[in-house]
Amino acid sequence: MPTDTKSVKVKKLSQWPIAGRFGPYGGRYAPEILMPALLALEAAYQAAQADEGFRAELRRYQEDYGGRPTPLYRAKRLSELVGGARIYLKREDLVHGGAHKFNNVMGQALLAQRMGKSRLIAETGAGQHGVATAMAGAVLGLKTEIYMGQVDIERQRANVYRMELLGAQVHPVHTGTATLKDAINEALRDWATSVQDSHYLIGSVVGPHPYPQIVRDFQRVIGDEIEGQMLRKEHRLPDLLVACVGGGSNAMGTFFPFVDHREVRFLGVEAGGRGPDADAASLQHGQIGVLHGAKMRLLQDEWGQVSATHSIAAGLDYPGVGPEHTLYQEIGRAEYVTVSDEQALSAFQTLSQTCGIIPALESAHAVYAGMERARAMGPGQLVVITLSGRGDKDLETVIAHLGRQRSAGGQEQ
Ligand SMILES: *Cc1c(COP(=O)(O)O)cnc(C)c1O
Repeated sequence: MPTDTKSVKVKKLSQWPIAGRFGPYGGRYAPEILMPALLALEAAYQAAQADEGFRAELRRYQEDYGGRPTPLYRAKRLSELVGGARIYLKREDLVHGGAHKFNNVMGQALLAQRMGKSRLIAETGAGQHGVATAMAGAVLGLKTEIYMGQVDIERQRANVYRMELLGAQVHPVHTGTATLKDAINEALRDWATSVQDSHYLIGSVVGPHPYPQIVRDFQRVIGDEIEGQMLRKEHRLPDLLVACVGGGSNAMGTFFPFVDHREVRFLGVEAGGRGPDADAASLQHGQIGVLHGAKMRLLQDEWGQVSATHSIAAGLDYPGVGPEHTLYQEIGRAEYVTVSDEQALSAFQTLSQTCGIIPALESAHAVYAGMERARAMGPGQLVVITLSGRGDKDLETVIAHLGRQRSAGGQEQ
């Protein structure tokens, strides 16, 4: 298979991946034992994509079960508060399960069923992807097993209960730091011995080819809907799209349908955490390396060991970022910035109080950066911020944090 992508002439950015890569990034750095499964997945995905029956079934689940299309809401009071561009919110917080994760999970679960698999395996950090996978397993009648680090299990009890209520089995992982990366290793180990009957359901635009492409294609429904809705409301395309970036799936789903429209600018927002020594800003502070089967920008030490990350938003707390984002950053197609824990908390409150929408802390990062940009733009300009999820899951974190802030200010206990 040709991997020298420099010799391939690319006319449009939407043509990527070519030979499993986005420019030099991506690829399939996987153990030999998984290669047959990855090749079979690639072939099955291509066949499914070409099958109108498959696409119609997915559409039916998206609409009747998932609640799509989600609204594109003109945030009038937020725009007035900011002054400047007109701000729209893409309401992925209203998707079944409370986040955009459903879009990809439902697509992959249907693909697994089509491939004749009877079992889904997935890893989860904060539990959001695990819950979405358990939902899809339940609705399709597929056995579902989720790997989760013991530390995360203790931090995210409610999501463990949710997964179990939905009929999934949660396997605690005790190796390493007992967090997400160790859970991924265990899931891969399981898959290596169970590929016959199991599908490994990856939750973001990461992993070996074809996962980054599959996840992007299932998430592009976000951007496709924005395009149609914007043309109906404003009779033109937006000027700026803003989305938070953990692994990068809600951002890629938002950006991708517009990638060949160079006049539509992209802003990806990474977790700035507590500052450069405690963040999860892979594109800002990472180096090129290989993580979970793909070449990408990631946070690592001088020996290539993956660094510990921090973000107040569990969904952004991942040391790598999808290969397609790594390419967009390098060629300047998208711009990436960081937003700190504190800034995200302030946007969390602002959105709650000016729009009556409590966003996920992940999404609050995008809201903060989107407001900053909109302020500097002209009143005729259009900004869309993707609200990747709702904030119910974050209430305890926020209350603990704001409570601390108040007592630090000496006003309240
Ligand atoms: C998981 C999650 C994210 C981060 O994942 P991406 O793949 O970067 O989109 C962002 N927001 C919410 C609400 C999430 O649950």
